[in-house]
Amino acid sequence: RTTTTTVSSHGLLRLPAALSRCGPPGVCARPVQSSTVSAPSSSTPAADDAVSAERLEPRVEQREGRYWMLKEKYRAGLNPQEKVKLGKEPMSLFMQGGIKELAKMPMEEIEADKLSKEDIDVRLKWLGLFHRLKHHPKRWEEALPLDAWVPGDDIIPVCKAVLEAYRDLGTRGNRQKTRMMWLIDELGMEVFRSEVEKRMPNGVLERPAPEDLIDKKWQRRDYLGVHPQKQEGLSYVGLHVPVGRVQAADMFELARLADQYGSGELRLTVEQNIVIPNVKNEKVEALLAEPLLQKFSPQPSLLLKGLVACTGNQFCGQAIIETKQRALLVTSQVEKLVSVPRAVRMHWTGCPNSCGQVQVADIGFMGCLTKDSAGKIVEAADIFVGGRVGSDSHLAGVYKKSVPCDELAPIVSGILVERFGAVRREREEDEE
Ligand code: SF4
Repeated sequence: RTTTTTVSSHGLLRLPAALSRCGPPGVCARPVQSSTVSAPSSSTPAADDAVSAERLEPRVEQREGRYWMLKEKYRAGLNPQEKVKLGKEPMSLFMQGGIKELAKMPMEEIEADKLSKEDIDVRLKWLGLFHRLKHHPKRWEEALPLDAWVPGDDIIPVCKAVLEAYRDLGTRGNRQKTRMMWLIDELGMEVFRSEVEKRMPNGVLERPAPEDLIDKKWQRRDYLGVHPQKQEGLSYVGLHVPVGRVQAADMFELARLADQYGSGELRLTVEQNIVIPNVKNEKVEALLAEPLLQKFSPQPSLLLKGLVACTGNQFCGQAIIETKQRALLVTSQVEKLVSVPRAVRMHWTGCPNSCGQVQVADIGFMGCLTKDSAGKIVEAADIFVGGRVGSDSHLAGVYKKSVPCDELAPIVSGILVERFGAVRREREEDEE
C-alpha cells in the first residue's frame, strides 16, 4: 500500500522500475507564491541556480470551467503541435462526439481537411490513441528519485500533481525540449518537487524515511501458471502471450474464459502477458484444458516466458526493423543451441525509442541497419546486456553493436553460456 515514488526525467512518474512516457491533461493548480525559490542540491545542473517566481507562474488558464488553454503571453515561438492544440479544443472529440464524425469520414476526406487531419495526427491523443507519423523519434532516460513517500491512496493524486506541474510549467517551443526531463533539468529536482507538492490535495508530499524497511532483496514473483490468491478458494492464472500478439478472435475467447472461469476480468502485464484473476479452485483444471491455452500457455519455455517485443515495422512508423517474428525466430534458434537453467528476459525494440525497454532486459536488442559481409544493407541489432528490474534495478550496457539479425543466434547463445549459466546442447548430448 505504500511506495517510494520517482519521476522519469523524460516523461511520467516512475512507480518503481518502469520507464514510461508522459501525457498532458489535468485539473486545477494552486496559486504560486511571489517569492524566489532556491534550488537546493540535486543531481541536476540547475541545482545551484535560483528559479524566479515568474518562471513558476502557470502558463495555462482554465476556460469555461472545463478545459485549459495556454495564456496569450506565452504563445510566442510555439511548436506546430502546440498550435494544433490551440486550433481546436481536443476534448471536443470526446465530449461532443467528434470521434464518431471522424469515424464516418473516408481517409481521403480526412487527409484533405487540415482540422480533421490534425484530429487524427494529434488530438486523438486526448482519447489515448496515438497515430505516429513516420520518422518522428519520441527518447528514453533513466528515472530520477522524487524523494517522496506516497501512501497507496495518494498514488493517483501524486500522478495528477506531477502532470499538472508539467502542464503548468513545461515549455512549448522546440519540440525536442518539450519533455519533463528538460523541465527538471531547468528547475532542479527540489524546485520541481516543491511544485508537485503545491499541487497535492493537502499541499504535502512526504519525504521517505531515512531507512527503507522493505526487504531490499525481494525477488520478482513469477505470475505465469496457477497461483493461489490471498482470498481463500481463488487462484489467478497467468497466460503467456508470445511477443504480446493477440488476434481479435483470441481476445473474444479470452473474454469468454474470464466470464466462464473467473470474474469477467483480465489483467494485462508489462511483459505483454495476460492474467485471469478470481478463478475458483475447483474450476482451474477445466480452465487449463481449454484449447486456447495451447497457444497462450501457462507454462512456456524458460526463454519464451521472458520474451518481449515492441510493435516493430509491421505497424509502427518509427521502426527500423521487424521485431516480433524476428524475436520468436531468434529465440527458437537459440533454444536449439543451448539450454538455460532459469528464465532470461530478452527484450526487442525496433528503434531507439525503446518501447520494448531493452535497457531493463537481461539481454536487449535495439533495431538498426548495417552492411553484411557482402556489403548489402540488412536489418541488425545493437545488443545490450545486464539490465535488472526490481529492488536492485540497473540499466543494461551495450555488449555489441550492429549485429546482422541473421547472425544473432550464435552470439546470443554465447552470452547465455557466459553470463546466464546456459549449457550448449551438443555438450549436454555428449554428457548423456
Ligand atoms: Fe515503434 Fe518499437 Fe520504435 Fe516504439 S520502439 S517507436 S514500437 S519501433
